[in-house]
Amino acid sequence: MTATAPALEFSTTLSSSPVPAERRAEVLAAPGFGTTFTDHMITATWTPDAGWHDASLRPYAALSLDPATATLHYAQSIFEGLKAYRHADGSVWTFRPEANAARFQRSAVRMALPELPAAAFVDSLDLLVRTDVEWVPSGGEASLYLRPFMFASEVFLGVRPAKQVTYALIASPAGAYFASGVKPVNIWLSSEYTRAAPGGTGAAKCAGNYAASLIAQQEAIANGCDQVCFLDANESKWVEELGGMNLFFVRADGSVTTPQLTGTILEGITRDTVLTLAADRQMKVEERPVSIDEWRDGVGSGEITEVFACGTAAVITPLGRLAWDGGELTMGDEPGPVTQELRAALLDIQYGRADDQHGWMHRVV
Ligand SMILES: *Cc1c(COP(=O)(O)O)cnc(C)c1O
Repeated sequence: MTATAPALEFSTTLSSSPVPAERRAEVLAAPGFGTTFTDHMITATWTPDAGWHDASLRPYAALSLDPATATLHYAQSIFEGLKAYRHADGSVWTFRPEANAARFQRSAVRMALPELPAAAFVDSLDLLVRTDVEWVPSGGEASLYLRPFMFASEVFLGVRPAKQVTYALIASPAGAYFASGVKPVNIWLSSEYTRAAPGGTGAAKCAGNYAASLIAQQEAIANGCDQVCFLDANESKWVEELGGMNLFFVRADGSVTTPQLTGTILEGITRDTVLTLAADRQMKVEERPVSIDEWRDGVGSGEITEVFACGTAAVITPLGRLAWDGGELTMGDEPGPVTQELRAALLDIQYGRADDQHGWMHRVV
């Protein structure tokens, strides 16, 4: 794409049977997560000859896929996740959508998919949110969850990058992740499974990473935990991240540490934001390798006072307990003060209650 490439034009076909306002109000009163979708969606197609084309906003509907559609066989598929927030004055905003656009491009490159121009990505979010703005919940920590994704839609069983690719965007109202107050989550340390290996796809937000993590997640649940923590694939020594959230350690000296990006860790936008918010508060921030021994010993000695996970869906989540085959470690039954401060700081920006000093908010309506 050259700088002068025209932005993607979206045609618009509005739904002739939108969800009745009454039913929508019911959904918005208790949205849950990822089960109900708005009245519209966006799709666009890419081919090597035509580039991105046929971009449209249209009624939400099932996709009809030929059984030989490549993504169903070889998982050439990536996605993003971000939220639209309604502020007290009724305006609606997204948070750092350009960062999601850039990561979507990096994921595409890794999976041999075409890059969607960042402007087209952000335009698609704006268009869908504006069209379905009545679906953006207000109050609490509710939001409209936005799910852009891209997949190999060519009908072909040969193994090579697809010559037809579909971009799509859907939206789903989301309730507060912690409906009854923030509660620490319990983590299972996987010793059998890894999430990502050097040279692999760990830094790409691709569907296959999630498929590969599910068995470990199942093991976590079977061991009475909520989420799984993965170690590095080479030495089983270095802490990487959870299945869909990055990790932070708070120390008694007030510093905040997160595992450095090695190519096997997903570069979370919340992670990057937390690093900035902590630095803004004069906390010492470090990105460096953190070993599982440092975690266990640090909590034992009191040097590590809080551990939290972060990502778009759950914002910032305190960890309560770390369990593994043969032992466990308790971090706390209540969210720690630094976890709470950073969590509140981030939510205050996202919901328009605090100054947006870094220009992170993007107004949609
Ligand atoms: C999406 C994701 C995250 C969190 O990224 P955010 O941009 O903060 O939502 C962390 N780890 C993995 C593996 C992810 O897929």
